[in-house]
Amino acid sequence: MSESGRLATGLRSDVCGALRASDAERRVRLAGWIHRRRDHGSLVFIDLRDRYGIVQVVVDAATAPEAHAALVDARIEWVIAVEGVVTPRRAGTENEKLPTGAIEVAADSVRILSQSKTPPFYINEPDAPIDESVRLKHRYLDLRREPLRDRLLMRSAMVQAIREVHHEHGFVEVETPILIKSTPEGARDFIVPSRLQPGSVYALPQSPQQMKQLLMVAGFDRYFQIARCFRDEDLRGDRQPEFTQLDLEMSFVDETSVRGFVEQMVIEVTKRTRPDRPMQQLPFPVFTYEEALERYGSDKPDLRYGMELIDLGAALPAATGFKVFDDVRASGGRIRAIRVPGKGGVARSEIDDLTERAKRHGASGLVWIALQPDGEIKSPIAKFLSPESVEAIWSASGGKSTAPEGDLILAVAGERVLSAEVLGRLRVEIALEANMADPEILAFCWVHRFPMYQWDAESSRWDATHNPFSAPVPEHVELLATTSGDVSKRSAGDPAGGALAQQYDVVLNGWELGGGSVRIHDRALLERSFALMGHSLDDARAKFGALLDAFEYGAPPHGGIAIGVERWAALLANQVNIREVMAFPKTQSGSDLMLEAPSEPDAKQWSELGLSLALKPSTPRK
Ligand code: ASP
Repeated sequence: MSESGRLATGLRSDVCGALRASDAERRVRLAGWIHRRRDHGSLVFIDLRDRYGIVQVVVDAATAPEAHAALVDARIEWVIAVEGVVTPRRAGTENEKLPTGAIEVAADSVRILSQSKTPPFYINEPDAPIDESVRLKHRYLDLRREPLRDRLLMRSAMVQAIREVHHEHGFVEVETPILIKSTPEGARDFIVPSRLQPGSVYALPQSPQQMKQLLMVAGFDRYFQIARCFRDEDLRGDRQPEFTQLDLEMSFVDETSVRGFVEQMVIEVTKRTRPDRPMQQLPFPVFTYEEALERYGSDKPDLRYGMELIDLGAALPAATGFKVFDDVRASGGRIRAIRVPGKGGVARSEIDDLTERAKRHGASGLVWIALQPDGEIKSPIAKFLSPESVEAIWSASGGKSTAPEGDLILAVAGERVLSAEVLGRLRVEIALEANMADPEILAFCWVHRFPMYQWDAESSRWDATHNPFSAPVPEHVELLATTSGDVSKRSAGDPAGGALAQQYDVVLNGWELGGGSVRIHDRALLERSFALMGHSLDDARAKFGALLDAFEYGAPPHGGIAIGVERWAALLANQVNIREVMAFPKTQSGSDLMLEAPSEPDAKQWSELGLSLALKPSTPRK
């Protein structure tokens, strides 16, 4: 049966977008929204729209007076049903841009199904700029517009492909509960007061982490879920308080086997969803965290362009006479740089702007060296550079410039990680401004072997860099054992600080798509790791008791990952904001402008929950 036929209902025989020249002479019944209307004397032309597309309907007062009369008052966005005959358009009036453009429907019957007020924005102008709050307030209208509709259709296809690929590989889809006890992922929990147990609360899952590990102990072997996650944090451009993760976990695996499946799955889902978008490199390149930092100044490198970081310090003599460089190196810091192609003729104002940005990213300054096409350099530090140093800079940064204006070296001197990260951010910003990345290409990679812990100087303790359940790489298990169990004796210099985790992120075009790890499946080691992170044994048992207990009943080695569904969909749809692939997203301050949530509970709800407000709320932000 044709696509159109499968979608027939009592009100329609076909859908608007599916009619073609081969349907000519068929009598059809259609229903949809008036997308556009044009009146030409006794002829009325309607572009009739439904989810599947648009078809032109023509009503002629001479042959169909009643149908014509029915349309007199009809305006855009009214819902109508029409009946008529599919007719080839007259030669020269075909519309090649429209899939249905070879035909029109000559209607002899029109029925108004529902009327519409004038919408707050035009549905039929896909490129019109509309204030986002207006779009969010009337999301059901925004969803009628082609761009958002198409993205949601793409997302649906993507989720379908995710399900198919997992089932093809023996995964079981399990829904884990939403009302749970805290599963930390480093954010604040949303909590839900219990009416039946006054004074107690549920937490909404930040992720199904503990549940999926318990499913491994239960023997499910391969689990996945399209899981809703909730994190109460200050919202940034790419964050929402609730979002969706493709969450999966596998038993009897090491890091290679998890990454192997995930990579295959990601490639397959991407191909099924966007067969038109080329992937830059297969298999995905793999970087250690250290290597990604050294080469790209980031743990989520965008590989669509070059401009890798250069170790300028290695090219320069230990003492250059330029105090900033010499001091940084004497204190163990690094001098790093990037080379921006074609920017040798940079203007003073651009340098000032770049310096300002470098400072905002944490650098104490920015040094520039303009590499001229004739082999000379221009730089405020030129006088400190011997001919040998100039030579060394040229060769360390890639040799002679091919650009007519020469190239620009931007250097940052500072602490090892900071100097890399500042340049990593400048690299991304400069590439974005200069459109260096091909927007069609999908450049995936893996970053792995992250440090197990990071030192939190403020609270003087170790914190998990990813999630507290990650296992150390086998050769570093010892480092956990040799770190003092006594919290007061801990310091940034502890052996545990050098431990690397069996942890991996999958990165796409400079965004972290997802992250996961092989887990600790041994109770004693997990307790040890919790202790390092400052949890007392009681505290660990109170928070993670079920998991710790379960590990005493035969826990298989296991590991998994979670991938952000919205991020993936946004990148496949070439969007920077995940709101653009969500049906009903919230604002930066967590409001749903359409439903007007959150809202105050009424008096009955307060009293049933045994709650009252201790503090007068400040004026809410929208
Ligand atoms: N639960 C982790 C997260 O949400 C992912 C994982 O380790 O599987 O980031």
